[in-house]
Amino acid sequence: MKIPSVKGFHDVLPDESVRWSWIEQQARDVFALYNLVEIRVPIVERTELFTRSIGDTTDIVEKEMYSFEDRDGSSLTLRPEGTASIVRAYVEHALQQREPVSKLFYLGPMFRRERPQKGRLRQFAQIGVEVLGRDDAAIDAEVVLLLHDLLAALRIRNPRIELNSLGDAACRPAYREALRAFGEARRAQLCENCQRRLERNPLRLLDCKSSECRAATADAPVMLDHLCAPCRAHFDAVRAVLDREGVAVRLEPRMVRGLDYYCRTAFEVVAEGLGSQNAVGGGGRYDGLVKDLGGGNVPGIGFALGVERLVLSMADDAAGRPLAPEIFIAPLGAAEQEALHAAHRWRRGGVRVELAPGGKSLKSQMRLADKAGAPYVLILGEDELAAKALTVRDMVAKRDFTRAVDLTLSADALRAALAQLAQQPMEQRA
Ligand code: AMP
Repeated sequence: MKIPSVKGFHDVLPDESVRWSWIEQQARDVFALYNLVEIRVPIVERTELFTRSIGDTTDIVEKEMYSFEDRDGSSLTLRPEGTASIVRAYVEHALQQREPVSKLFYLGPMFRRERPQKGRLRQFAQIGVEVLGRDDAAIDAEVVLLLHDLLAALRIRNPRIELNSLGDAACRPAYREALRAFGEARRAQLCENCQRRLERNPLRLLDCKSSECRAATADAPVMLDHLCAPCRAHFDAVRAVLDREGVAVRLEPRMVRGLDYYCRTAFEVVAEGLGSQNAVGGGGRYDGLVKDLGGGNVPGIGFALGVERLVLSMADDAAGRPLAPEIFIAPLGAAEQEALHAAHRWRRGGVRVELAPGGKSLKSQMRLADKAGAPYVLILGEDELAAKALTVRDMVAKRDFTRAVDLTLSADALRAALAQLAQQPMEQRA
């Protein structure tokens, strides 16, 4: 009986996992340049962490969370995003007392029960950044610069960073009201979802995908026109730094991000290769969140990129291939045990070795060796075993050296012997 995987939960097979590890390594390298350190948080949290932080009028909390009752009756949830968990950990371990500013990154799976399609899964991976403890415009700009450098390192095709300001507690309430009044006046033209959200979360009117809502809200008021003076100054300062550093961003006054906790700087990245799900990532400032989750008055800003979408939108030749074995040992007849013994010694010495199973013809072993991509095949047949010396086939120059390498060599001596064979002029071939 075959048991299939669960809908929306994918395997990453070896062809693709090379790209995943490459992406993770590039990200770690860029994060180190910005002095970020890794934080690892659990996959399961108490449900209330997400209802409190993400907001109970958001799509995620309304219909996408994988929540379940634990055996003691408490409600637990597979995390749908990283920020809430990281802020929870930040508060729980009083990181604020250890260091004034925490610059963190994370990698790992997230879970949302969405309708699966290209670039949209129920388990997906994110790479994210959170900077806690600074509220100046310079750090917002630095986070966007980091994002920009990361997209370049990952060779994402035609990425575009979209920028907006969502205002703060001083100016957003009045704007919300203005938007709500605008929506109320056009209630009949709005989709059911938006009608329902008018009362509790009118900002979502602006990112509704339905064409009727888009038409009805085409000239809706936008936050950028309602910023208070400090929010305006902050936004202008962020843009000035990005300008100076030559990082192009596009103003996107209708971008509101999905979650309740954002304020001021908000951004998203779109890129090629993704079809309708064209956002590879997004983020923004969340100054009230630490306090909401029981911590101090600590501001924060961060973003997350979706790994599956990065894989879809990176340049085809970006990741390269996995490392091929340096040598391939082909044991013939009774030589399997000796071959395994030598392979073990050489591997312990740092040589990448593929060892074919015994009992196969030389021809079929050579076919395997070719596929494995090793530059040298070491053949161990009856004659070689008697002489305690392997025959070497140089797969690149296509020549054999009969019983040319001692079976008992150390890893270093093996490397030296192979290098020496490669130096031999063609006419001396055995
Ligand atoms: P969000 O927190 O919703 O802005 O998500 C940030 C990024 O995570 C998105 O831009 C996507 O790249 C990725 N992402 C979010 N939801 C999914 C999903 N269901 N499947 C795959 N990737 C996702």
